[in-house]
Amino acid sequence: MTIAHTILPAAPIRSLRDYVALGGGKGWAAAQGIEPDALIKELEASGLRGRGGAGFPTGRKWRVVRENRSAYESASVIVNGAEGEPGTFKDRSILRANPYQVLEGALIAAKAISADQVIVAVKRSFTTEVGRLRSAIAEIRDAGWLQDLEFTVYEGPDEYLYGEETALLETIDGRWPFPRIAPPYRRGVREIVETEADVDSGSGLAAHVLMAGSNRSLAAAPSLVDNVETLANVTRVIAEGEAWFRMQGTAESPGTIVCTVTGRTLHAGVGEVVMGTPLREVLEVIGGGARPGRRLTAVLPGVSNAFIPEELFDVAISYEAFAAIGSGLGSAGFIVCDDSDDLIAITAGVSRFLAVESCGQCAPCKQDGLTLADLLAKLCRSDADPTDVALIERRIETVAIGARCSLARQQEAIVRSLLERYRADVDAHLDGAAPAVEPAVIAELVAIDAGSATVDERHQHKQPDWTYNERWSGKSPADLHAAHHAGETIE
Ligand code: SF4
Repeated sequence: MTIAHTILPAAPIRSLRDYVALGGGKGWAAAQGIEPDALIKELEASGLRGRGGAGFPTGRKWRVVRENRSAYESASVIVNGAEGEPGTFKDRSILRANPYQVLEGALIAAKAISADQVIVAVKRSFTTEVGRLRSAIAEIRDAGWLQDLEFTVYEGPDEYLYGEETALLETIDGRWPFPRIAPPYRRGVREIVETEADVDSGSGLAAHVLMAGSNRSLAAAPSLVDNVETLANVTRVIAEGEAWFRMQGTAESPGTIVCTVTGRTLHAGVGEVVMGTPLREVLEVIGGGARPGRRLTAVLPGVSNAFIPEELFDVAISYEAFAAIGSGLGSAGFIVCDDSDDLIAITAGVSRFLAVESCGQCAPCKQDGLTLADLLAKLCRSDADPTDVALIERRIETVAIGARCSLARQQEAIVRSLLERYRADVDAHLDGAAPAVEPAVIAELVAIDAGSATVDERHQHKQPDWTYNERWSGKSPADLHAAHHAGETIE
């Protein structure tokens, strides 16, 4: 297996001039002479799937947004650069190495859906990426690529849900990062809001944004939200053609994918591989394989999908192959465990991360999520009994009831996979055969440098109300929002 460089270059590209010298700009130039419908058809034929985690077909997404365009307002393209999946650092790596290819893809998207603005949404803590983006946008503006398009960088909060596409739109519109009911093709950003009633269904939650078709929402325009890596791929598809793109990868997952490997491999790393490459090879080539004297035992694809045990490491990197083994590719961020790890402690850390980051709009997600996190912490400290495990099994069944976004289902999938695939490890904590351990720290990556990954340790102190106060208020972020909405003072 070799490392590819169609999306992530071997060395950072420092200027627009260098980018063009390396062949950049061909996609945008080609798009000038292609009608929007033909651009979308080209993407549909390419089979490109969104690289943000869900793997949804990109061309189909663009078509739905175009079909839902408003007669009154222009649509928007939102570049989702709010990367925060634990174990994933690929979008930040792409933005650092080559922001031009992402911006070029966003220009093509704007033409395809007739948008008049592009917003690149990143976290305000991503200072390196913000700097790279601002200077790259200034360069393409000076080069005349933007024409009349408004092109801005939006700096948002660190919350995990900020990366969820509808919560991203909420945040850009000045509200809290809570997932909406309305999908982006029914309600984008820049709403016409004159009163709270235009936005709020009366629940007290701003996230209950009304969908197009109600009130004065005839003026509502959709937004196209696409991930950084997806848009970098768009540039190549339009520059080289769908047949070129399909020359690599599998029939259902064409092209390449940028993977992040962290955890117990020899080193951490980010690298681009052809879809269809076995996971085992990715762990070897990007991560250096197992540490001396250790054996790799399991992989977690971020905090989104079920554990993959060692006997399934020959699975091909593709959306369909990962689904077939009962897991999911997610954003191709692989947290690797070895025989020194306690998988109950890892799961307890994942469960806590997701329960803390839950917004609480759906009560089971927050409440059952916190219960699961507490019970798993008790289990890894060897302080649990069989009734606790039985309660974990019951809460797995209820945590995702009525869930508006995928976070609750992530909690369900990972804890369920622990019980199904590592029951002996659970029993070892019940009968005292396994030593008591603390839950692992699972959180966003803040850096991958010289083969070493750094996790955001501050997350250990984040409370379920999203504060860093000494004690939890007992309220969820949604409760705090409702109190704020009712005019109560929030401490
Ligand atoms: Fe919030 Fe969880 Fe509901 Fe998603 S599923 S909207 S994170 S409470």
